Formats: sequence, C-alpha cells, structure tokens
Amino acid sequence: MKAAVVRSNSDGYVDIKDVKLRDIKANEALVKVEYCGLCHTDLHVANGDFGEVPGRIIGHEGVGIVTEVGDSVTSIKPGDRVSIAWFFKGCGHCEYCLTGRETLCRDVENAGYNVDGAMAEEVIVDADYAVKVPDNLDPVAASSITCAGVTTYKALKVANIHPGEWISIYGAGGLGNLAIQWAKNVFKAHVIAIDINDDKLEAAKKVGADLTFNSKEADSGKWIQEQVGGAHASVVTAVSQIAFDQAVDSVRAGARVVAVGLPKGKMELSIVKVVLDGIQVAGSLVGTRQDLAEAFQLTAEGSVKPIVATRKLDEVNDIIDEMKAGKIEGRMVVDFTK
Ligand SMILES: [Zn+2]
Ligand SMILES: [Zn+2]
Repeated sequence: MKAAVVRSNSDGYVDIKDVKLRDIKANEALVKVEYCGLCHTDLHVANGDFGEVPGRIIGHEGVGIVTEVGDSVTSIKPGDRVSIAWFFKGCGHCEYCLTGRETLCRDVENAGYNVDGAMAEEVIVDADYAVKVPDNLDPVAASSITCAGVTTYKALKVANIHPGEWISIYGAGGLGNLAIQWAKNVFKAHVIAIDINDDKLEAAKKVGADLTFNSKEADSGKWIQEQVGGAHASVVTAVSQIAFDQAVDSVRAGARVVAVGLPKGKMELSIVKVVLDGIQVAGSLVGTRQDLAEAFQLTAEGSVKPIVATRKLDEVNDIIDEMKAGKIEGRMVVDFTK
C-alpha cells in the first residue's frame, strides 16, 4: 500500500512509498483510509523537530473504514467509520489515563510520530482508541475535527466560558476560526476575534465574531477592557508570544486564559494581576476520546463548518510548500477514495 513517509535526512518533506503493514494483533483493527488532513504538526515531524523519525508514516487527521478486527476487539467492527488522531493511544492505567486526562499520559503514542499514522492507504489502530465517526457526518469535515476541531472544542471547555459571557480569541486562522464557531454556536458566548490579518478577521465576522480587532499596531488588551470591561475568558491559538501577553491583558478578574498555540519563548505574567485579579492560565492539548466523540456529534448537528479542500497523495510535498508559504486557507485533505 502507498504511504507518505518521513525522509531519511528529515528534510521536512516526505516520500510516497510502497509499505507493507504487519499483521494486526488481538486488540487492533485495520482501517482503509478515506481521508487524511495535513497539519503543521506533520511538518514538524518531517523536519525532525520533535526528534528524527525517518521512515515513519505521517498523518493524524485520518478517517477511514474498518476492514478487519483482531480476536479480542468488541468496540468496533468491520464497516465502521473511525478516526485516527494525534492522541493515538494512552497506557490505560496511569493517573492521567484513569482520571479523564488521557492526553497527558506520559507513555502516550501519537499517530504519525511515534507510531505509523494515517497518511497512507491503510493504517493499524488500537481498536479501543479509534473513535467512531457518526454516519451523518461528512468524512472530509470529520478529518479536520480529528485535530483542529477537537483541539479548539477542548480549549473552550477548559476556558469555562458560560452563555452570554465575552471571550477573546487570539488568532483567527484555522484553529481560531473553529474556536469562534464553537464559542458562538455551542457555548453561546460573545466573541472578540483578534488577529493581525484583516482577511482572517473578515472570515471571523462571517462565522459569528461579534467584535474583531487588528492588533498589528494597536494594543488589543486595552481596547477590549474599554469595549466590554474585559473578557471572561481568553483562548490563544496564535503562534505569537505577544498574543499571549495581550490575552492576559484582555481579561477581567476571575478569568481563565487558555494557551493552545505553541510559539517558542515565554509569556509575561504580572504577578500582581494574577494574584489580585485571580487570573488562571491553563494549557490545553488536543482532546480525549470523549471530547472527540462530542466534537464529531456536534459537527454532525451543524455546530461548526471546517474549511477543507481535497487533494491527491502525490501532492503532499506541494501542500507542504504551500503551507510553509502561508498560502492555504483551511485544511488540505488527501483523498484516498479515488
Ligand atoms: Zn493536526
Ligand atoms: Zn497513561
């Protein structure tokens, strides 16, 4: 079967190769991939940024049909549509796995990084960790929910935002656009979208942002305090250290600031503000199987619409170049059904 594998010199690109999969074990299933999105995390893996993994099959935004299950599998059956996410598998017995925080498992397996991923015609999954995709959800949209969708949905849960409250969302790109939709349509919040790109802010308005602000030359924190008296929560999807500082400035007392974007560097935190205003800062990493199942169901019900376009497997390196050049709006999803 054909697969996109990390090159031996980890130069940031992949080779499309013929790969033979091993036989499945008792707890596993074989999945015929239908669609797999390409994510910036895949680019980091191909580049060796998390440690070099030559020969690894990339891809963690996969959706496909189960074709075969191992002897002890009861959770899924042939014919089911399932997902292959970055959170591929936890150990199942540590304090994090046992307390609803499985993405923090110290022995986590990540698809397309320390196990072979879904940018391939077929992929082997651990059956208990393959989340089912509802029949009435478009599989192309589902591939995007597997990563960006569940990540932003979980961030909104962590933000502890309530109906009618204000939330500032930093970064209105792929993640931010989905975060705005979750915040409006599921959490019923009032949304302020902040970005340095007017086109992205225009798109943010279209999906429901109540207020938008271009922070290229002006301080969004001060503006938000003036407009609404400070946000009740903030979610930072921007890959920019300044955005984190402004997010803290944008919130009112008692608020939580949720970090999702991953710029290098440190965030500035005024100890006085944190203590006197009771500010909480929390990181949020992808989502659990339960989060993903909820995100799929809500998307099937029309709560969010990911921006997606389909491409062919042999175009993956072209897509990588387009992503590096910032030319892509939404998600490029490789179509394995043709
Ligand atoms: Zn991803
Ligand atoms: Zn664990």
